[in-house]
Amino acid sequence: MDLLIKNARIITPDKILTDHLLCISRGKIKDILLKKPYYSQLKRTVKTIDAGGLYVSPGLVDIHIQGFKGEDVWSGPESVFRLSRSLLSSGTTSFVPTTHFHEQTIRDIIQARARLEEDTPVSEILGIHLEGPFINPLKKGMIPLSSIQRYNPRLLDNILKLTQDQLILMTIAPEMPNSAELIKQLKKKRIVIAAGHTKADFEQANQSFKQGVSQITHLFNAMEPIHHRKPGGIMAALLNPGISVQIIVDGHHIHPAVLQLVLELKSSDNVILITDAVKAAGLKDGYYKMSGQTICLKKGKVVSKRGILSGSALSLLGAVKNMLKFTHVSLAEAIKMATLTPARSIGFDRRKGSLTKGKDADLIFLNDKLQIRGIIKNGKIITLSL
Ligand SMILES: [Zn+2]
Repeated sequence: MDLLIKNARIITPDKILTDHLLCISRGKIKDILLKKPYYSQLKRTVKTIDAGGLYVSPGLVDIHIQGFKGEDVWSGPESVFRLSRSLLSSGTTSFVPTTHFHEQTIRDIIQARARLEEDTPVSEILGIHLEGPFINPLKKGMIPLSSIQRYNPRLLDNILKLTQDQLILMTIAPEMPNSAELIKQLKKKRIVIAAGHTKADFEQANQSFKQGVSQITHLFNAMEPIHHRKPGGIMAALLNPGISVQIIVDGHHIHPAVLQLVLELKSSDNVILITDAVKAAGLKDGYYKMSGQTICLKKGKVVSKRGILSGSALSLLGAVKNMLKFTHVSLAEAIKMATLTPARSIGFDRRKGSLTKGKDADLIFLNDKLQIRGIIKNGKIITLSL
């Protein structure tokens, strides 16, 4: 059924509209119109939702996430399916499941995605993000050594066959041997390339940007820190306006002062909020088994037995709230960093990321505390409590 949403504060990439109507038809955003004079002619033909002054935001898009609320990409296709369901209820209407290179995990994600194409209320899988295998073992973080390899064309071919055109984002370390050839091959396949888990220096990072790397995976984490005589990949990325940076704003991965530095050099057009969340996210403090390793969640921080940060306990909406708490960005900017900017960075902005005519009608209703009061996915009401 066609829907008409009135009395909403509609969050667009640039500003918040208070005097417009949002029309939805056949799963797409049909139009955003000034309230008068259209309302009287439209209200007779469609179901009207009175949003009562709530915000309406585009559904959030997480391009780097491994798990949430007890489910993750390493626990079989059923778990990936349940992950998609619980992500939708958290306001993330599309996501890119992220894993280190592990064949069975890739098969499981593909199997789960095939099931999602049925008519079920779930967050949509846009493709797969592989962190590796062509990363630097010296910056592996929690990625198992067995999932890290030197580039060779046969292995890349195998990965491309295995991922069946669903690989849309790959994190690589540009300082590793033959990375120029790797970047060339990935570009040919239109796979977006991120630098991450890397020790690339300033020059190597800049070189990789010229070759085709377009974003940085969890900036600052699993990279060489900034040194005033060895600026490294972080500085190269911050100083290059064409490079987008993924950041984890959970208050643990990046200090708010450093976040401020990022915003001095970047804008909501190239800062991508990600969660890098793991299965402990959204659960009680305690120990959890994750991909054969034990992790501990305590006060919003997820660490391994050796105390290494192991993903986050964030929701993407939580990251938006943290941006507003830690920095001076506006609500429209914070939402953009969790919607349009990530969608654009992986080439999905024709369908996702903003409330724009012709895009998928994925949207969330939020109150002033940014709590979810309703979710619409592909034009269908999933929950609504106005
Ligand atoms: Zn990582």
